[in-house]
Amino acid sequence: MPTAAPPTRRPIRALDPQTVERIAAGEVIERPVSVVKELLENAIDAGARRITVELRGGGLRQIKVSDDGAGIPADEIELAFERHATSKLRDVDDLWRIGSLGFRGEALASIGAMAEVLLISATDDSGEGAGVLVSDGRLIERFSRARTRGTTVTVRALFAHVPARLKFMRPARTESAQVSALVRRYALAYPERRFTLVLDGHASFTSGGGGDLKGALADVYGRQIARLLLPLEPAEVAGARIGGVISGPQLARPSRRHISFFVNRRWAAPRGLTEALEAAYRPFFPRGRHPLAAIFFDLPPDAVDVNVHPAKTEVRLLPEAEIAAALGDAVRAVLSRGSAAGSGSGFRLQQLEQLRRLRDLPPGTGDHIAEEPAAWDEGERQPAAWDEVVETPNLPPLRLLGQLRNALLLAEGPDGLYLIDQHRAHERAIYERLLAQVGSDEREQEPIEPLVLELGPLQAALLDDRLPELEELGIECESFGGRSFLVRALPALGEHEDLTAALPDLFDELVEDDEGWRERLLVGLSCRAALRKGRPLTPEQGRALLTQLGHAATPLTCPHGAPIVLQLDGETLSRQFGW
Ligand code: ADP
Ligand code: MG
Repeated sequence: MPTAAPPTRRPIRALDPQTVERIAAGEVIERPVSVVKELLENAIDAGARRITVELRGGGLRQIKVSDDGAGIPADEIELAFERHATSKLRDVDDLWRIGSLGFRGEALASIGAMAEVLLISATDDSGEGAGVLVSDGRLIERFSRARTRGTTVTVRALFAHVPARLKFMRPARTESAQVSALVRRYALAYPERRFTLVLDGHASFTSGGGGDLKGALADVYGRQIARLLLPLEPAEVAGARIGGVISGPQLARPSRRHISFFVNRRWAAPRGLTEALEAAYRPFFPRGRHPLAAIFFDLPPDAVDVNVHPAKTEVRLLPEAEIAAALGDAVRAVLSRGSAAGSGSGFRLQQLEQLRRLRDLPPGTGDHIAEEPAAWDEGERQPAAWDEVVETPNLPPLRLLGQLRNALLLAEGPDGLYLIDQHRAHERAIYERLLAQVGSDEREQEPIEPLVLELGPLQAALLDDRLPELEELGIECESFGGRSFLVRALPALGEHEDLTAALPDLFDELVEDDEGWRERLLVGLSCRAALRKGRPLTPEQGRALLTQLGHAATPLTCPHGAPIVLQLDGETLSRQFGW
């Protein structure tokens, strides 16, 4: 039998400086946006008031960042390109009280190792500036050049010598989008500075630099959205001050991209904080929806560890759990105030922003509805009973007119005709009712025909772990020996469709090995319990449904994210009829 050759090994050797340099640089500079981030941070640290970022070809052709900051003295420029050379840190103690964005002294060295860099800088307005050209980690040229106070760094041929990294670059459009998001983030963090972004020669974004967060929010998100944002009540916990703005329940986004946290004005996304924020919105948002938020945490520098990652993209907060809890409370306070403010004081107009008006729909949709044969359920109609107006906190006052195709409620409101999907409306109402009951003392339950679940070993273990949480949700489920479980009661759902046939499927959701099970269960339960399309409703039932919906925090979208209410407004009617 042939014996395997002994594994060969090569002797240990120290890597040559150029290789070491490349490896280190690779950790700091991953893509064009990393270059822009480092250069922006340098400009901010230099106290610049105006910072301009110009990008060509997504940054691979050219990145240019100019500032009007303190500048670098001519005799220090070369040193600025040395690794671990910095003016921001003197000794190891400083590492624990970092007040600047940069401190590792690695950025210029890293960019210089990955690209061709031209840096021109002046420390006063005498007109004299100095510059260097660095390429592939080597000083190519030194020169003097006229310039006012400040620094301009131009980066070309990024990754030209690192083909492996070039392959990972996405289309220029994507790289530019990342830079654009980054610049906007800094504009929020530093409202007193003016940021300008130019993409391939076209002005793409400018912040006013007026100094207030409101103005910066309007620059970044537009006036309309900025107006809808709600300020957090400033809070202080464990030496950390928390403040900023969040969106109300009516402004749900499909990604987390618009959640911005700044820790001592450094952008960061600590997981615990993101989770605390999102948990506070859970009662209002369907799965996969996220709020918009710009929240600032100010801590003593020694309570923050920013030296976690070479690109300084990670930040650790020492009292993170306390801050997360305080953040959750602050957000919930604003959100509950939002719905309380609406109650009794009529309809909150801003809710209408999300309302789908028929005139906004693509042509054809309106016709379609007009062409449907009327399907009034004559037997159920009681004309005299249709006059009552349903007043609720979160919908306009509505006078129920009837039911169309046993699927839609028709109602007259302050501005035209409202069509309400009865199934989705009920689904939303049940969903919010379930959420409100989670963990509350006033939980109501309704007994069901006991349902036996027979599970595999893994699933049985999972379910066993989740029993206390099920109880929190109002579901009575107990172990029934071996791998069997018995479900005896559900949270009270009010009037609802029969669930007997749907429950086994629903409970399959419980034993999926992921964190989304709770949400899926609640959405699934609401959907299955909600009145189906095709059910004729009496006027009383119709009004009860409108009342429930109008008390929901998010009455316009169902838990799956689909619209519940359509409006045919007065203007459209006038136009269509030629009045
Ligand atoms: P760090 O920012 O961690 O100090 P860098 O490599 O980014 O390291 O920069 C090295 C040094 O160069 C900085 O400490 C700073 O003194 C100087 N510098 C870099 N960019 C600028 C700038 N735009 N304006 C003024 N000084 C700068
Ligand atoms: Mg730096």
